[in-house]
Amino acid sequence: MKYLNEYRNKERAEILIEAIRRQVTRPWHIMEVCGGQTHAIARYRLEELLPQEITLLHGPGCPVCVTPEATIDYALELAMQPDVIFTSFGDMMRVPGSREDLLRIKARGADIRMLYSPLDAVEIAASHPDKRVVFFAIGFETTAPVHLAAVKEAHRRQLSNFYLLLSLFTVPAVIEAILSEPICRIDGFLLAGHVCAIAGYRDYQPIATKYHTPMVVTGFEPVDLLYGIYRCITQLETSACSVENAYKRVVTEDGNRQARALIDEMFEPCDQEWRGIGIIPKSGFRMKHSEWEINPANHSSKRDERNNGDKRVSSDCIAGSIMRGLKQVTDCPHFCTDCTPLHPIGAPMVSPEGVCAAYYNFK
Ligand code: SF4
Repeated sequence: MKYLNEYRNKERAEILIEAIRRQVTRPWHIMEVCGGQTHAIARYRLEELLPQEITLLHGPGCPVCVTPEATIDYALELAMQPDVIFTSFGDMMRVPGSREDLLRIKARGADIRMLYSPLDAVEIAASHPDKRVVFFAIGFETTAPVHLAAVKEAHRRQLSNFYLLLSLFTVPAVIEAILSEPICRIDGFLLAGHVCAIAGYRDYQPIATKYHTPMVVTGFEPVDLLYGIYRCITQLETSACSVENAYKRVVTEDGNRQARALIDEMFEPCDQEWRGIGIIPKSGFRMKHSEWEINPANHSSKRDERNNGDKRVSSDCIAGSIMRGLKQVTDCPHFCTDCTPLHPIGAPMVSPEGVCAAYYNFK
């Protein structure tokens, strides 16, 4: 706990809050793009501690929340096939597709297994050669190398029955998409420390310059977050727009070169749909060698059915507007009424890193 306690220290937090208070002269909107940071902001009630001039907005940083409904529907189709063992992180189990979720079809007998690592799915593939074992590979740059390590392991063991269903997202592209909207009201960004630990932060500087928007690489503990906000406010108050690293104990400018080399070797960028936001060019990853990937785009008839399904559900969930910084959770009429973690309408109420669940649990 030694290294955690320093970053949860009340006196340090109070010093930073006072420094922010002295620095701020006008209203600013700052967005974090990381579910872990959103969770910590709600858990430590940082919004209530900050000067009222500062509004925190909660961006599309939870992979569970941005995985498209159509991809969930395709996962359900796969999981119901008798020759498939479908495997996933636990927090995808209750994310609603257009009609139901993985947990419901598991209750009806589908072979769906919750895992902590895609490497566990490789083990299952090795012990069930008569089945296709599919791992639901969700995440950002952070988890991409872990999924690829599983593919490498499956290849090493000469398994031909292991596949990834990819739902991977890249952060710089979505930040640029949000900033390019004419109605954007975001003044500065906190960048996710764990994403930058893998990918580095060079890719953000051209975006920061183009939109004259400061960005600060930030950690996950309250002192980390307050320091990131302090650095962001300092830049805003001086009209600066650089990408700054406030998480130097973990992040370097180049990130993890080995992980990046693995990503470059095995993935290529692709257009990606973000739930509630839409398709953003070059904001996802697909495999360069498709034998390891189960791709919904190869199943056009099913895709058409899914698109019909999309129109039927979740039309009044405002998660997309929240993640683009246009609304707050408390603007949603369903929040804490008919949308709760037990009965979620939208994905951000499912995952602990989703902003609606974080507000529900801590506010
Ligand atoms: S409270 Fe529920 S319906 Fe409202 S935005 Fe959040 S997930 Fe969607």
